[in-house]
This record gives sequence, structure tokens and C-alpha cells, in this order.
Amino acid sequence: MMGRLPFMAGNWKMNKTTGEAIDLVRELKAAISGVKGVEVAVAPPFTALYAVCKELEGSFIRLAAQNLYWEEKGAFTGEVSPLMLKEVGCHYVIIGHSERRQFFGETDETVNRRIKAALAQGLKVIFCIGETLKEKEEGKTFSVIERQVEDGLKNLGDKEMENIVIAYEPVWAIGTGKTATPGQAEEVHRFIRGKIEKLYSREVSEEIRIQYGGSVTPENIKGLMEQANIDGALVGGASLKAESFSKIVRFKEL
Ligand code: PEP
Repeated sequence: MMGRLPFMAGNWKMNKTTGEAIDLVRELKAAISGVKGVEVAVAPPFTALYAVCKELEGSFIRLAAQNLYWEEKGAFTGEVSPLMLKEVGCHYVIIGHSERRQFFGETDETVNRRIKAALAQGLKVIFCIGETLKEKEEGKTFSVIERQVEDGLKNLGDKEMENIVIAYEPVWAIGTGKTATPGQAEEVHRFIRGKIEKLYSREVSEEIRIQYGGSVTPENIKGLMEQANIDGALVGGASLKAESFSKIVRFKEL
């Protein structure tokens, strides 16, 4: 088996004007130049994608979008299609983030539709899953994860799985400063990999990368990355500053 390449992605959410986004990406390029053995992506808001794409020319940093709509075009006011994201230089798209599920009515079914549309257009997907605090307290973590994986990936074949990264983000850890301990995260990551093996094959489960997300910082990244089934991080708050995100990217040097 080839080792899984660690993958650090910054989700900027609804932060950064275009001018601020350019400044951040310039600083980030300088701070991580020469780093090897890790894939890096940034997900600015839609309005900054084109400018950030231009700024990233010649850099190894990949561009990601934070969401998309599954239709190709038409009367869908306020939505953005997979082709539009491809055209502005996106390589990845984040789908099913818990904020989309919590505040914008995203369901496992709509997540599945978005994933299929993204893959059909040649975009790679960061597929987010995770349980809420209530679900965790009710002992439902594994059943929730199982349902999200099964329904989110419905009717996707082995070949399509090559272009999917899973991000396990316990909702109670997002933006709260409460990270899952490396042990807690690893237990769920192991479960997710096992589920992928059951749904697909040993090979698919060994190749798929599973990022952890939820209050990741330069202080806790090392312990997380030491776990066998944690292959990177989806980072919110700490990706908004080049200083902290570059340390996360450089976790091997910490
Ligand atoms: C996220 O939004 O994906 C996230 C993990 O946020 P934070 O790092 O701020 O908890």
C-alpha cells in the first residue's frame, strides 16, 4: 500500500474580502514554500475564488470552494454550479459542512446529489460528516456517522471514491475550542475506514484520506497526526492567519 499523503485544507467560511484573501494567500505561499510531503488547499468565499486562483498560479496550493449546487445552470437564484467552480480554477469543493447542514437545510440526500455533480465535473470532494453534541450525548455517534457515510456516498463506485476525501468534524468541536482528543478522533476515523471497507473494499478503505476537523491548532495538530487513521485536517479559525495555518501545514517540524 502507498502511504496516504497528508492533506491540510483551510475553510475560510464567510471571511475575507477579495483584498484580504489575496494578502492571506501571499503570506501563506511565503510561509509554506518548499514544504514537501503534504497537500494543501484553501477554500475562500466564492467572491474571492478567481483572484485567489490568479494569486496561486505556480504554487502547489490547491483552490477549493465551500459548496456548490447540483444543477448545471438555470433558474436557481443565488446558486453556483460545478462548471462555474471549475472555470475559476477550483480543484476541490467542500460538501456537507455541518454549517450547511445546520443552517441551510442540507440533508444526506442533497449532500449526495452535490457530491455526484461535483465529481461529474471533475472536481474532487471534501465530504464532511460529524455528530452534534446532542447525538454524542445520546450515544449516537457511530449510528449518525454510519448513516451519513451510507447516504452521502449512495451509488458512488470505487472509481469515484478516488476523488473523495472524508472530513470527520464532530459538530461540538467546530469553532468551540473543544477538540476531540486524538484518541476520540482516531476511534471514529477507524470506524469510518471500516465502514468504507464494508461498502467498497479493503483497497478503497486504505486509500481514502480522512481528515479531522474541529478546533485544530498548531498546538494540537501533532497529536492528531500521530494517529494511524488521521490523514490531515480541515481547519476553520486557525486557517485565517498564515502564521497558524502554516504551522499546521508544517506539522512534521513541530
Ligand atoms: C470547520 O469549519 O471545518 C472547522 C473545523 O472550524 P474550526 O477549525 O474553526 O473549528
